Amino acid sequence: MIPFLDLRKITASFDGEIERAVSGVVASGRYLFGRCTEDFERAYAAYIGTRHCVGCSNGLDALSLILQAAIELGRLNLGDEVIVPANTYIATILAVTGCGLTPVFVDPDPLTCQITADGISRAVTMRTRAVMIVHLYGMCAYSDEIGRLCRARGLMLIEDNAQAHGCRFGSRRTGSLGHAAGHSFYPGKNLGALGDAGAVTTDDDELARMVRKIGNYGSERKYIFDNEGRNSRIDEIQAAVLGVKLPRLDADNSRRIDIAGRYAAGISGVGMLPQVMRGMNVFHIFPVFTDHRDELQEYLSIHGVETLIHYPVAPHRQQCYSRYSHLSLPVTESIHRRELSLPISPVMTDSEVDRVISLVNSWTD
Ligand SMILES: *Cc1c(COP(=O)(O)O)cnc(C)c1O
Repeated sequence: MIPFLDLRKITASFDGEIERAVSGVVASGRYLFGRCTEDFERAYAAYIGTRHCVGCSNGLDALSLILQAAIELGRLNLGDEVIVPANTYIATILAVTGCGLTPVFVDPDPLTCQITADGISRAVTMRTRAVMIVHLYGMCAYSDEIGRLCRARGLMLIEDNAQAHGCRFGSRRTGSLGHAAGHSFYPGKNLGALGDAGAVTTDDDELARMVRKIGNYGSERKYIFDNEGRNSRIDEIQAAVLGVKLPRLDADNSRRIDIAGRYAAGISGVGMLPQVMRGMNVFHIFPVFTDHRDELQEYLSIHGVETLIHYPVAPHRQQCYSRYSHLSLPVTESIHRRELSLPISPVMTDSEVDRVISLVNSWTD
């Protein structure tokens, strides 16, 4: 069996370092607001290239905290429109609606699955105040045109970097390209914890301070509450685990890029492959596209290869968002109908990759 992702094998590949880090926290008696959190926040901010990193409970919270902090600071107002890619994971949209803002769904470019500056500018109205780009599948969604457009229109630019830790844009990294970025350390992400964790990165001192405050009940001084906050913090155990894993992230991403290169060179099905952009993609997911997606998934499964679909139902087609079901988003719907994610992870062997390639090719022949 070739699993989609073998988390046990990934954890074991750190040779006991993760267990030692966890034991250290257990023995320390300090489980929140400790040295591991401080060290990880400092290391991750340095890695991403921002002045601040604020740890929080998960990726959805990271995005929500940015938006809520912007509202508290008077930079966004309830009901303001936030432009989002229609084909993102639901968390991106939940952050927007959960903060009382209005998502404006933009259909992506069919080749890259990313929204373009053109698509964004067509969706801008008098009420638009922010754009949330998503580095989906691990591929950088930022462009100089998007940056220019947001600056020219005075729009806040937020990055959903849940799937692209370590991805580069020129000499910078995703997570440092807009006003603020939300990161998820869900176990299956490129940088994954042993449970839930997330972070906000930003260069904005005021925003970072407000994000930290809201994630700590709206409080900076014990039992004094300035804002109506919530509890969203990173715990010492997860911070310790992430601190062990961060130094190997670039090497892990290189291995993902290597595997993606093998897939791209080896898979012969016409029109199946994603736009492979070397150096701007850390391949959280390796998607292929076919009109016969379910049949391919079944065929691979019968032959011992586990695959996933990212994602089977578009957000505007979900029951929870039935108020958006009238929208016409043909590219998004085609992606959700045709996408299949092949196994990819730093612990996959070359022979496993070759086996997946030959199976996909034997199916398309
Ligand atoms: C995983 C993910 C999130 C949410 O992260 P959680 O830590 O699961 O809350 C948000 N956006 C995208 C694009 C994701 O893939």
